[in-house]
Amino acid sequence: MQGHDHDHEDIKDKDEVLARYMAQHGLKSTRQRSLIIDTFFAVGGHLSVEELWNKVRAQDAKVSVATVYRTMKLLNECGLAHARNFGDGQTRYEAAAGRDHHDHLICTRCGTIIEFENDRIENLQDAVAKKHGFAVTSHKMELYGLCRDCQRGIPPDPEA
Ligand SMILES: [Zn+2]
Ligand SMILES: [Zn+2]
Repeated sequence: MQGHDHDHEDIKDKDEVLARYMAQHGLKSTRQRSLIIDTFFAVGGHLSVEELWNKVRAQDAKVSVATVYRTMKLLNECGLAHARNFGDGQTRYEAAAGRDHHDHLICTRCGTIIEFENDRIENLQDAVAKKHGFAVTSHKMELYGLCRDCQRGIPPDPEA
């Protein structure tokens, strides 16, 4: 990591962060909330509320989409998940704990999201900011286009 903080904090113990946040906000841990949180961290990737809800419902059909929505908002507020918007009108969440900074390539046809990390790009961003006397606190880089399969006209896999 270079001379500035990216949007990921080092989070040592997510259970501890969560417990502290819930106590501060007078929230109780519920079985449904724990199931949603465990599922989110187990699945990984960049999940929309709907996608996560589908995974959770497979384990407990009584969980409502509203509970998933509120739980992800909570994880975002306590810093354990980052909300991302990749231009398809859906908020997606990805885990922040234990992740290094990375940027994204987004396929606008099939929705594939590829993560990348490039030291030269990171350094260039720092150099640009420095030249303008700008103190960067966070950044997001998103490149939009077509993935390899979509360029070749391969139809998206509906199961993906
Ligand atoms: Zn694609
Ligand atoms: Zn990502």
